[in-house]
Amino acid sequence: MADADPTVRVLVDAPRHAGLTPSLTYRSQCPLDAGLLVRVPFGRREVAGLTWSTAAGDEAPGELRAIAEVCEALPSLGPDWCALVDFAASYYQRSVGEIALAVLPPELRRLGRDAVADRIRRLHRASSTLGKDAATPPDAEPALTRDQADATAAIAAAMASEVPGTTLLHGVTGSGKTEVYLRAAGLALAAGRQALVLVPEINLTPQLIDRFTRRFAGRRIVALHSGLTPAQRLRSWLAAQLGLADLVLGTRLAVFAPLPRLGVVIVDEEHDASYKQQEGARYSARDLAVWRGRREGVLVVLGSATPSLETWQRAELGRYRRLALPERIGGAAWPAIRLVDMGRLPKATIGLRASAPPPALAPQIVAALHERIARGEQSLVFLNRRGYAPVLQCGECGWLSGCPHCSAWRVFHKQDRTLRCHHCGLAEAVPRACPDCGNPDIAPVGRGTERLEEQLTALFPQARIARIDADSTRRKGALEATLGAVHAGEVDILVGTQMVAKGHDFRRISLVAAVNPDASLFSSDFRAPERLFALLMQAAGRAGRDAASGSASEMWLQTWHPTHPLYQALGRHDYAAFAASQLKERESAGLPPFSHLAVLRADARTVEAARAFLDAAAALARPLAESAGVMIYAPVPLDIARVADVERMQMLVESASRQQLQAMLRAWLPQIDALHLARGDAPDAARGGAAEAGRGNRTEAARSSSAQRRVLRWAIDVDPLTI
Ligand code: ADP
Ligand code: ZN
Ligand code: ZN
Repeated sequence: MADADPTVRVLVDAPRHAGLTPSLTYRSQCPLDAGLLVRVPFGRREVAGLTWSTAAGDEAPGELRAIAEVCEALPSLGPDWCALVDFAASYYQRSVGEIALAVLPPELRRLGRDAVADRIRRLHRASSTLGKDAATPPDAEPALTRDQADATAAIAAAMASEVPGTTLLHGVTGSGKTEVYLRAAGLALAAGRQALVLVPEINLTPQLIDRFTRRFAGRRIVALHSGLTPAQRLRSWLAAQLGLADLVLGTRLAVFAPLPRLGVVIVDEEHDASYKQQEGARYSARDLAVWRGRREGVLVVLGSATPSLETWQRAELGRYRRLALPERIGGAAWPAIRLVDMGRLPKATIGLRASAPPPALAPQIVAALHERIARGEQSLVFLNRRGYAPVLQCGECGWLSGCPHCSAWRVFHKQDRTLRCHHCGLAEAVPRACPDCGNPDIAPVGRGTERLEEQLTALFPQARIARIDADSTRRKGALEATLGAVHAGEVDILVGTQMVAKGHDFRRISLVAAVNPDASLFSSDFRAPERLFALLMQAAGRAGRDAASGSASEMWLQTWHPTHPLYQALGRHDYAAFAASQLKERESAGLPPFSHLAVLRADARTVEAARAFLDAAAALARPLAESAGVMIYAPVPLDIARVADVERMQMLVESASRQQLQAMLRAWLPQIDALHLARGDAPDAARGGAAEAGRGNRTEAARSSSAQRRVLRWAIDVDPLTI
């Protein structure tokens, strides 16, 4: 008899706005724990689901359908994992089902019970033979420096304590942070626990992974990131979930790895923006890691040379333990920072006339590069803009190579003679003549890395020059090949975007030059200085890692604002002073970490539609906001307002209290759902879509359909990183 069967709450992947309750109730033959993988009928399909604990008020409406199958081979994901997902959903204002299913490996959702059971059997078989053939012995541990030993001791003490808390490990590049991570992970492994190590981008940190792999040879280490094949990702995830993996190394999605024996969480480069997911559920893996550590009673280590101001402030307040590695290993000196005052260079040398191609570098920097080449040392020239030139211009009528679909210029790429929009992906051959007046003389204005490389080749015809940016590394293996050449000493000058500033341990680079750091100095985003400082510190960290040449290593900055406090603090390598001045500014402006923000985004075909939607949402918010002390700002267009023919607007919501902001959002968002549904748009076009329209779909998005014409997408971003 049907109503004698137990009922079970099951999460499926459905966004909250779809008009469904966040979970569905099914009949089961026997009671089921929470956190089990099941397959259930859903509409006319059968989909993957997760059993979940019953929430109050979850009444079973009418006739119930039965769970199709339970995947018994997979143990329950456990109460800690379920709590993490519940928290993430509630904090980032998504449905639990959406988050829970989205963070599972796609293959797990696709495969049926028998196929999953088969994968698990194979994994057990493989791991029972692991380590028996002990191919290479693990790397020996170096003797720790005094500072490293102190940090490791503090970490060991924290790990042994009842409430391990969160530790900030603050140390410049080359100060030995990774060695401390290795010790922390080693302590967890020795205690029979698992270690979770998060890195910003897997392919930019091959050396870190290499070091973990060599140090823990014979242990089972798995990687978890989006670059894996579906089968690999499932294997890694299962190894973590079954407790077979000792160490999980991964990108932000790995924060959701189920780890039954978790012993420590390490977040390398904790300030890095890639920890924040920018689409769908916009979670911060760093913040979730801290939450997870607290919930599970395990230590979280946040490492950085330039901590985020949020983290730094918590350390200042004593909420995080702070450990410092103030010196570089082996006495390597920090590079001397030299500022080239562009305003004092003779005008001709900096090419203010649009007709003549501007010289790449100030004469002082050219001389310094010559010296390095003569001494057989390497240099890194860094410019955060790819392509040949950001725009083409007609000298006759002033035509500029704008994108017809975006409020942005199309970038000139000389290699394949295209004009490419970096926002919507539109790529076309460079026109032979000005499309407006027919003048054949259209010229590049400004400079990207491709042009910089060309100019350096002209300046240093004998030098071996290589370039690393998103264009030069598109081909699989290209990045590894170029990095290999740099490490092998086959490159004299490496040109690149911020890709070269991160992670790599270049031993022979003794000069770093930043061509145009000013570009982000006066951005409207209040976090721009923080990001610039971190980037420049990181770039500086590429120089002088070898103690032998370290004494003479330099970082040159070409700037129009040599007295800017940011450059002054950088010159003294003084992160603490920079952080203090930034925090003071943030406090007087009422910005994070002294306030809490959320951004409501609306994307529509017209500015008016986007604004009208945000205005209506603001009207709904006002009664909620007033009582909660929440500020609602007027809607404004994004910096690049139109992408792929979609107008993008945003509205800032701010509160001094995180709890009040959260409570207000919880009350407000269902009203926005209703507002949106009332517009009559297709519901599946609604949440999470904003911003992805242009980036994800590239040229597809550029092609407009009549259905898209009416569509309005909205999304909420809690603790947004870019504003
Ligand atoms: P970070 O992670 O702060 O950039 P690393 O841990 O990578 O610093 O250390 C920088 C370099 O110094 C690496 O090549 C590393 O192998 C070496 N190193 C780190 N700690 C020690 C130590 N205690 N003794 C000798 N070499 C060390
Ligand atoms: Zn023209
Ligand atoms: Zn475009």
